Amino acid sequence: MARTGKAVVCRELNKPVVVETVEFGAPKRDEVTLKITACGVCHSDLSATNGTIPLPPPSVLGHEACGVVEEVGEGVTDLSVGDTAIVSWIPMCGKCKYCAMGRPALCDVAASATITLPDGTSRITDSSGTPLNHFAGVSVMAEYATMHRDNVIRIDPEIPAAAAALVGCAVMTGVGAALNTAKVQPGSSVVVIGAGGIGLNTIQGAALAGAERVIAVDLEDKKLGFATEFGATHTINPSTDGDPVAKVMELTGDGADYAFECIGLGSTVTQAYNSIRKGGTAVVVGVSNLAETVTLGTFLIPFQEKVLTGSMYGSARPREDFPKLLDLYKANRLKLDELVTATYSIDDAPQAFDDLQKGANARGVILF
Ligand SMILES: [Zn+2]
Ligand SMILES: [Zn+2]
Repeated sequence: MARTGKAVVCRELNKPVVVETVEFGAPKRDEVTLKITACGVCHSDLSATNGTIPLPPPSVLGHEACGVVEEVGEGVTDLSVGDTAIVSWIPMCGKCKYCAMGRPALCDVAASATITLPDGTSRITDSSGTPLNHFAGVSVMAEYATMHRDNVIRIDPEIPAAAAALVGCAVMTGVGAALNTAKVQPGSSVVVIGAGGIGLNTIQGAALAGAERVIAVDLEDKKLGFATEFGATHTINPSTDGDPVAKVMELTGDGADYAFECIGLGSTVTQAYNSIRKGGTAVVVGVSNLAETVTLGTFLIPFQEKVLTGSMYGSARPREDFPKLLDLYKANRLKLDELVTATYSIDDAPQAFDDLQKGANARGVILF
């Protein structure tokens, strides 16, 4: 059945988000409706509101959530009403070339379902009956969300909702960049540029992998404080410490084994590349705007055999990785509760976006 409830809507670019009462359509074949219990406010949501991520309004935001299955559509046999689940913002169709290669983060269906469900339509209508876009193909910053069952990963219901929600984006993206994409080795040295939600998780992923030195770079001392709590052994604030590449060279001798760019700027991608040693790996995790480019000196490229790669959703295999990350949390090896530095009601969503822009939180979470 269709349900009504509140949702956080981006109506117009560069305007504050608004909370509206909308209608959530009933799940069709292979779909489920979740009652959302917690939703993280991620930088990508903010990037959608200012056009950095070119997914057009009007849309219901949110892509990092935990919820309880409220209704299942025809053909859904492996999820039941009452199951607790985390949302994966890639649907992992299981059939395309990339899913078949074991790289579902690159799923072709996910790449085409960015503002609708995989069938190309919306399950959300506003009070005038106009369909709204599904940001990131899910739209979970709302009291309910109807989505494809391939976006839904059942989890242990004992995990606190706010902690579980963050696994669906920030934790998977950051920890996955270190563990899955770069495969950080024990004893290595790692640079993480940008200590926001993703950067902090890249830092804790590198620490979890046994990196000996984890160097966090950020312009804000408050974020560098968080970075230290999440496993950074050294911090660099370029506004007081000067050129971060020179500082990394001072600390490592010939450059770090790995560098992660967690901001989304060409200039910091160049810094990441220049911070690694010969044969090292630089990973771009941050999502830039479409116009951003990166400049590298070409002469040394063959001589240094460095690797520059991207990391999409931490090279996630959500069905395998989400339960693994939650096991690490239960074993006190992964910090999730500590990421949540503020919680909000859905009515306070505009404040949550303001706080995100100001860098006030490790992560702000809307609780329902
Ligand atoms: Zn996100
Ligand atoms: Zn696929």
